[in-house]
Amino acid sequence: MTDVVIVGGGPAGILLAHRFREHGIRHKVLERGKVGQSWRDMRPGMVLLSPGVPGTDWTSLTLERPIWSFPGVRRPFPTREDFLCYVDAFARDQGNSVFLLCLTSGEAGENPQSGDQRGEHLARRRAEELRGAAAVLGIQHEIAGFTNGAFKRKYPNQRLWLPGAALEAWREVRDPEQVVVDVATQLKPHIVLAIEPNWGWTGHPEHRAAAELARSAASRVGAEVAYAVMSAAEFTDQFDTSRWSGKRGMSYWTVKIAAARHHVSQYRLPTDAEKHPEQSPDLSVEHFRRGGTVESDK
Ligand SMILES: Cc1cc2nc3c(=O)[nH]c(=O)nc-3n(C[C@H](O)[C@H](O)[C@H](O)COP(=O)(O)OP(=O)(O)OC[C@H]3O[C@@H](n4cnc5c(N)ncnc54)[C@H](O)[C@@H]3O)c2cc1C
Repeated sequence: MTDVVIVGGGPAGILLAHRFREHGIRHKVLERGKVGQSWRDMRPGMVLLSPGVPGTDWTSLTLERPIWSFPGVRRPFPTREDFLCYVDAFARDQGNSVFLLCLTSGEAGENPQSGDQRGEHLARRRAEELRGAAAVLGIQHEIAGFTNGAFKRKYPNQRLWLPGAALEAWREVRDPEQVVVDVATQLKPHIVLAIEPNWGWTGHPEHRAAAELARSAASRVGAEVAYAVMSAAEFTDQFDTSRWSGKRGMSYWTVKIAAARHHVSQYRLPTDAEKHPEQSPDLSVEHFRRGGTVESDK
């Protein structure tokens, strides 16, 4: 149920939404394009006319979240690009919270840095890395504790693994769909993001099973489901105006790469980088901007 509808997600609309949220007034913002569309439509390099100076900052939406607190903003007159990054960050900061539910810890994988690190040891390490990345991204997370690769243990001689086998193996312990539904019931998400159901991230049956669970759990709690296959190219599409993340004061890419660096056990040979520079992971901004990927999800 919505009390107020705000037409337009420009600076005025998102600031109003921020104030309504503070006062617990239910509202919806209807925007015909993207947040800050009028500014997106202006030519690149256009500058704001009022100076961004601490304490007298007419370009900021609130003085608690001033534009000049973002590193790299041109002073005293921010550009259209600075302003859009700020507006995006402002909207994201107060608009969405993200919760990440992982079904397993990935203990059946391997650590490309030290092949001997597997099983429980690897699960603990990955859980720790995930905690670090989630802290950087400012998101909450939970690991549901299902066994990674349980279906392989169940049918050791079978070559073709299907998502159904993964689900069956997990169900022997508890119902994985109910676990997802319980989390969703508690959080009441507007949207559930999952990996793509036909291919997952690598075609892995557990990825496909997880996508299927997300789809049916979302429909049971009345949430939308969207599929997010994490390709670096998709991230680079957003580079233009979304480089500021919800984490204040850090650029989108700084945050993305800082989070990726936490997952060191999933990158090949960083410790051996001098001997094999061609095999060491490239986590530079330039690499991602060119559409590069990191070798992960082993
Ligand atoms: C060059 C320049 C410099 C400026 N410098 C400053 C400055 O330094 N400081 C300052 O405070 N102001 C400055 N301004 C003014 C600034 O643009 C406005 O203050 C600000 O953008 C107004 O915000 P707004 O949300 O009211 O409107 P807009 O930014 O125009 O937002 C309106 C939004 O509504 C959406 N919309 C329109 N019709 C519909 C519809 N029918 N359905 C759904 N959505 C719709 C649009 O897509 C848009 O996103 C400057 C303007 C220009 C052009």
